[in-house]
Order: sequence, then C-alpha cells, then structure tokens
Amino acid sequence: MSLDLPVPAVALAIGAHPDDVEFGCGATLAKWAKAGCVVHHLICTDGSKGSWDPSADVAELVVTRQAEQRAAARALGATGTCVFLGWPDGELESGLRQRWEVAYWIRRLQPAVVLGHDPWKRYRLHPDHRHAGLLTVEGIVAARDPHFFPEQALPHHRPDALLLFEADEPDHVEDVTGHVDAKLAALHSHTSQLLSTMHIDEDASPHEVQAQRQAFDDHIRTRLAAHGEREGVAQGEAFKLIAQL
Ligand SMILES: [Zn+2]
Repeated sequence: MSLDLPVPAVALAIGAHPDDVEFGCGATLAKWAKAGCVVHHLICTDGSKGSWDPSADVAELVVTRQAEQRAAARALGATGTCVFLGWPDGELESGLRQRWEVAYWIRRLQPAVVLGHDPWKRYRLHPDHRHAGLLTVEGIVAARDPHFFPEQALPHHRPDALLLFEADEPDHVEDVTGHVDAKLAALHSHTSQLLSTMHIDEDASPHEVQAQRQAFDDHIRTRLAAHGEREGVAQGEAFKLIAQL
C-alpha cells in the first residue's frame, strides 16, 4: 500500500456516466483542486439511461445530466473542463474510434495523473464501466506514443500515473480527510440520480428526505473510513496505482 501521490499540476478523471467520477475519486479531486491542480472531467456516455421513469424525456435528461456534471465539478472546486463524448448510455464500446477520442483529450489536456474505472474489476455487471476503464488504459497507450493517430497533430503525452478507482486489487490510498463534504456536495449535485442511485426520494416528506440523505452520506463516510483505515488516515479513497506508463 502506498499513500498520497504528489499533487499533480493537471488531473483528468474519466467516467462512463455523469456521477461516476464523483463516486470513484471525488474527494481526491477536491483535495488536489484545493492545492492548485487543474481538474478535468471526461464523460464517455450521454447518461440517457439514467432514469427509472419510462416516460422521461431522454433528450432533456442528457442536457440535465451535463448541467449536473458541471455543477458537481464546481462543487469539487475543479477549474478544468468537462468533456462529454456523448456515446449512447449502455452502449459504450472500447473500439478504435472511442480510443481515438480519449487519446485526443489526453494529448490536449496533458494530465500528469489520469483516473478511471478499473476495467479488470471482477464480477462487474455494467458494460459501460468496463469499457470506460479499457478506454482509459488504451487511450493512455495511444496518447503516449508519437506514431499513434498522427493526424491528431498534437504532441504525444505520457502521464506520470494512472489511478484506477473501484479497484479489484487496491494498492494505493489518497488521504481525503477534510474533503469528504466536497465529495458529498458533488454527488448531491447529480439531482436526477438522487432516487435511482442514492435512494433519496424527493417526493417523500421533508423529514424522510432528510433521513435518506443522512443514510446516503453515512454510507459514503463509512466506506471512506474503511479505505482510510488501511493506511491509518481518517478518510481515504482507494485505488490501483499504475506508475509505469
Ligand atoms: Zn456509471
């Protein structure tokens, strides 16, 4: 187990859907942003399946989720950009076309650290998370070497480190003590996901909504405390660290 990377000048967090980055590494991004790191988001899909309401206006949902993602990034203190690749939710593939796009953004934004889903997490059900993880890994490989996608006409770029969240075999912890409130604020910014993802029913009584919010926050805090315990810190986010890129 290692603890705490040096604060990078630029970080790029890659998620399958709006909200994945906040769940996976929101507190780490908040910590780095506060220390002067430029934090960028790259979201692979349009989030158009993110509603339990069969009559939901899907086009409206896509716009809503982009606005929520930007609000979440602000709640983390992120000053970078939110890039939306816009692939249909639930249908993300890790093909050459998608890899081209991820490599393009890595070359353009030049992150020192890239963060993304662990594509090798066992028994993972959601294909988008697996494919977004593969795109993160394979996008780095393409971005770092000059003969991949030369038509991009951008300098190749090799990040210093890759942090995989939801890691199958975590071996690195970021101490996020003092940055959990920012993560929670960012998660709550994904208002359209309150019911389906956070089990907060805004149609319930104010008292019940308060209790549901508290239960969700407690669940997150408990998990971060468990990750932190591995390295003797109060709150931690756990990752697989790959530093040989
Ligand atoms: Zn997701």
